[in-house]
Amino acid sequence: MINILILPGDGIGPEIMKQAVKIIKTCIYLGYKINILYNYIGGISLDKNRQPLTENTIKICLNSDAIILGCVGGYKWNNSPLKPELGLLMLRKKLNLFANIRPIKCPFKNIDFLIIRELNGGIYYGKPKGISKQLINNVPTWYSYDTEIYNEQEIIRIVKLSFNLSLNRKKKITSIDKSNVLISSKLWRKIVNYISNFYQNIKVNHLYIDYATIELIKNYNNFDVVITSNIFGDIISDQCSLLTGSLGMLPSVSINNKSTCLFEPCHGSAPDIAGKNIANPIGILLSLVMLFEYLLNNKILSNKLFYSIYKILSFGFCTIDMKNFFKFKKIISTEEFGDLVNYYFLYD
Ligand code: NAD
Repeated sequence: MINILILPGDGIGPEIMKQAVKIIKTCIYLGYKINILYNYIGGISLDKNRQPLTENTIKICLNSDAIILGCVGGYKWNNSPLKPELGLLMLRKKLNLFANIRPIKCPFKNIDFLIIRELNGGIYYGKPKGISKQLINNVPTWYSYDTEIYNEQEIIRIVKLSFNLSLNRKKKITSIDKSNVLISSKLWRKIVNYISNFYQNIKVNHLYIDYATIELIKNYNNFDVVITSNIFGDIISDQCSLLTGSLGMLPSVSINNKSTCLFEPCHGSAPDIAGKNIANPIGILLSLVMLFEYLLNNKILSNKLFYSIYKILSFGFCTIDMKNFFKFKKIISTEEFGDLVNYYFLYD
């Protein structure tokens, strides 16, 4: 029996999650032994439990084989002292999810590379961070600070993982940093070069983050495995959604050294379109493709779902965010897209 914990979260989270749950229920109907559990994270958890993630939810996460998360955040909690996003940062830290793998894939345009984002360190967690008032030139002035910090062990584990993943791909790694300015990036680059000595058959190159943003869009075929820090990975993966048509298209899996995996789309809670039944569910559906592949080791299911999604797109159907991309022309709702994928997943 596989225990899958569903954390829909906020904004469009519940709408897109519903489409993923349809597919899981179809798998159960087909005889797969899957147990679905539900819980809260983010703003909805703040509303119900006054915390963005409770100890009880963490316990359930630790006892689950996989977690599927929608997204967190929204205008409603703009003035809340505790932010919904803290729930996600806590979850990643408590489960020691240090690597976030984000495939940038578009069969229509022959695009296929991976962004591997370090997820447990860097400026999102680095201390000290804070805000205070100080006298600057004798004027009381707000003063705020964050810390970009990486230790050797944090870098080694993500770099090793990336090299090992690269062995099953084109054996080409691009490491993105800002080592011309940041000391933490200098250590990052040094470790990438050191580890590359143990993988002589893998070609490694380095790019500075500023120029990498151009290369990733202009010459995407030059990339296969891209590794980078927490903040750079966050930003460049959103940017690379330009290649696949929409931010709503990108899936991800976060992994630790044990077996619990977190599957989630790369986008946020999209409060501007929440509740309108127009969100693109492909990011979460492709995250489910990854779950079938990584967790269940079931290529038949993962291929079936992947081709069901792309079959619907190849018929010209898409959600409104994709309307100017490729040759899509029939705009359908989140529910309709989910139903069509589920239909082909079951019957095709
Ligand atoms: P966002 O990703 O929510 O939205 C950016 C733009 O992309 C919006 O116009 C939105 O409508 C669109 N978009 C995003 N996902 C879409 C989808 N599936 N289908 C169609 N359109 C989609 O980023 P934002 O606006 O910067 O942040 C909104 C909230 O989400 C904030 O509270 C932020 O902190 C949070 N956030 C959460 C996560 C997460 O849960 N992993 C990630 C990023 C941002």
